[in-house]
Amino acid sequence: MKRIILFLFIVIVGMACNRTTDNSASGTNNASTIAPEKKLTEIKDKKDAQPIPDTPDTKKDIIEKKPKEDKKATKFKKNTRQKNDKIKANKRGTTKKEVILPNLETSTKAFSKDYLMGKFKPNQHPDFTKIAAIHASRKGMHLRKDAYAAFVSMYNAAKKDGVTLKIISATRPFHHQKRIWEAKWTGKRAVNGKRLPAKVDNAKERALLILHYSSMPGTSRHHWGTDIDLNDLNNRYFERGVGQRIYKWMSANASKYGFCQVYSPKGDNRPWGYEEEKWHWSYLPVAKRLTELYKTTMNNTDISGFKGSETAISIDMINKYVLGINPDCK
Ligand SMILES: [Zn+2]
Repeated sequence: MKRIILFLFIVIVGMACNRTTDNSASGTNNASTIAPEKKLTEIKDKKDAQPIPDTPDTKKDIIEKKPKEDKKATKFKKNTRQKNDKIKANKRGTTKKEVILPNLETSTKAFSKDYLMGKFKPNQHPDFTKIAAIHASRKGMHLRKDAYAAFVSMYNAAKKDGVTLKIISATRPFHHQKRIWEAKWTGKRAVNGKRLPAKVDNAKERALLILHYSSMPGTSRHHWGTDIDLNDLNNRYFERGVGQRIYKWMSANASKYGFCQVYSPKGDNRPWGYEEEKWHWSYLPVAKRLTELYKTTMNNTDISGFKGSETAISIDMINKYVLGINPDCK
């Protein structure tokens, strides 16, 4: 009898020990009670012994769950972005939906580097049109058809409010900008009221001086057919009288028609680029895309073919000037 009781005792104790080992291996028991070597061996044995679908945390499940989580995260990010855009638009006094855009089909599906650099003829390009005399200070200027249609809507709205907008400069091809730049570079044309000496001591300094108000050929937004100069090329003109009324009207209404003042006052949010230009307005629905393309496809070494072009690299023309615009216009 004693032997039978002893035998039963050994069997019960043995069963109890096996249960403890199983639980530890499946991670429900306190792992610190098992020696590290033993734990590793047991986990390995269990992994080999068990068929994969029995355990919930297999790699298969993780892979299946991941896309769902990513989808959720993307949706959340998209919603947040849309919300932020709306807040931004409201701050500017308009929402995206309020922007009046012309519904025009244009032939340009993709823009080339030559287009970005103004190396084409606006009067022969299918997406361009002549600016009517009533809207301009002189004949022979061109704009993209979409930008011009938006301008005409804006012009008519301004006229109703007693404000007359006049385009004094529009599309300027590469060779036109090269003429302006080289006249300044060689001292034939004044820079900030003074002609530069014929001898070039410091090319970079000379380029930076001209860059206060003139673009380097190949980097001007005027190449794109989306940008216009209005009424006067002097900030002071827009600070009183008729000029002030024009500027106030544009600041309040231009965004409804897709236009933005790209050269806003320099400061913390625009530390680089051209000085403030209260006359220069850009048609964003197309210009935004061109700015982005300039950023992704152009290099400073592409800026060449005129006097002083070697300075484009040390100045970092693309980052500092092409992209140095009012953040609200990006
Ligand atoms: Zn301009």
